[in-house]
Amino acid sequence: MTVPVPQWHVPITIYSQFANRSWTGMARSANLDDIFREFNRVDQKDIDHLTEIGYDLPSLSVGDRVTIGPETWVCEPIGWRSYQRVPPYDWTEDLIDGVGFANPGSALRRATRENPRNLPCPNCGEENVLTPLDRARGYQCDRCADLAERGW
Ligand SMILES: [Zn+2]
Repeated sequence: MTVPVPQWHVPITIYSQFANRSWTGMARSANLDDIFREFNRVDQKDIDHLTEIGYDLPSLSVGDRVTIGPETWVCEPIGWRSYQRVPPYDWTEDLIDGVGFANPGSALRRATRENPRNLPCPNCGEENVLTPLDRARGYQCDRCADLAERGW
């Protein structure tokens, strides 16, 4: 005997623009059109189902967001019931030069695979203290920078 795989075990989060909050639960399907249908109260069966699963937001509508796994989709007005993928938030875009600072109080950039700390200081000549981003900005090493700031 084959046990059918439950179709309603798709964890989703719905953010309702109208209610300005989200609901997390299980959908019957991972298909966006099915989800749109499931989370709209068209007849009494829908109302009963949504009450049963604890969905207390308004019916899905334009501007609402559906998150399935790592993907988020926003319900669009163009062509009734179309969805646009919301790009995942890229936190590295907020970091200076895309890498951030090496240490608090240092102007030097953090070393990454693409930005290795493999260059010498132009002032004292110490090896492997600057990254290519540091050199492009004309920086010297932290020790030289500290000395320069203290006026020695
Ligand atoms: Zn130096």
